[in-house]
Amino acid sequence: MTRIGLLQAGPMMPFVTEQFSPTFDVHRLWEATDPDVLLEKIGADVQAIATGAQTAVDARLMERLPNLKIVANFGVGYDSVDARWAGEHGIIVTNTPDVLTEEVADTTLGLLLMTVRHLGAAERYLRAGKWPQAPYPLTPSLRGRTVGILGFGRIGKAIARRVEACGIPVVYCGRRRQDDVTQPYYDSLLAMARDVDTLIVAVPGGAETHHMVNAQVLEALGPNGVLINIGRGSVVDEAALISALQERKILSAGLDVFEDEPNVPQALIDMEHVVLLPHVGSASVHTRQAMGQLVVDNLKAFAAGKPPLTPVTETPFKGW
Ligand code: NAP
Repeated sequence: MTRIGLLQAGPMMPFVTEQFSPTFDVHRLWEATDPDVLLEKIGADVQAIATGAQTAVDARLMERLPNLKIVANFGVGYDSVDARWAGEHGIIVTNTPDVLTEEVADTTLGLLLMTVRHLGAAERYLRAGKWPQAPYPLTPSLRGRTVGILGFGRIGKAIARRVEACGIPVVYCGRRRQDDVTQPYYDSLLAMARDVDTLIVAVPGGAETHHMVNAQVLEALGPNGVLINIGRGSVVDEAALISALQERKILSAGLDVFEDEPNVPQALIDMEHVVLLPHVGSASVHTRQAMGQLVVDNLKAFAAGKPPLTPVTETPFKGW
């Protein structure tokens, strides 16, 4: 088999990169002292990119790779890849759906419980030796809440199953009503925010969802409102969220994703009534391995002339 040029945008797990070696000549973009010089030298040889969310795979980069056929993205969210441009230029983009769904939903339930029941703060209280002086103060509750899920896809539905198992009703908002679900549908996020007190964000990032959760939506959620974001940081107007939390327009927030990762605003870190996680939704050994294997399997399918396993909707497969 002829060897194939692969541009690796950032570090990946060793068991993933080890599987590249037999088939691909790997060029490590993030290690290049001058990426422009590297791209000038190897651009025409590159037929495949392996990437994660850290590096933008935009038109500027892809234009420099005239023989590029596939961009294999580690992660179900691929807002760092310009998939529309790729589709228009016959390049396939693949992502890692399904294998992370249950893990991310587990994390979301944990984040919701931590946020509403102050589990992190209560643990800090014990560790600080404060329990012998007084019990931890009573907290808000999930009881009596209604959860609205923005983005009722694979992860949104897996979250709904867990939340409903807790006895909490779920409604959802998306671009279209889904015929095969029983939960009430809202076509307006603002209307849903008015009717619920707990909003869980599980939509993809990108231009269309940028700052969908804005000051108005947060205000509509109300003073008992809890915002949970495991979708993308860009979906929430972080400055508006900080104001809403500081002015107690909403009760609290649990965030796994941020606008400028890994930088988290000090104003959020300073607030005791928010829960902040460093983007760990899918970050278990089990699930990250399954995601890494799917990246490898998509690239191997390409190398063998077979259809990709998980192309994204913007880049339907029509042959290599
Ligand atoms: P999915 O199955 O494609 O679901 C996405 C849902 O979002 C769809 O139901 C879609 O519904 C809805 N949607 C898309 N654009 C929208 C818009 N403009 N307005 C309203 N709804 C919109 O994807 P998934 O597998 O559930 O993953 C969802 C997202 O979770 C990923 O894209 C990623 O950003 C995030 N994620 C985060 C982590 C983490 O570690 N925190 C891990 C994995 C994934 P309609 O098409 O009906 O609108």
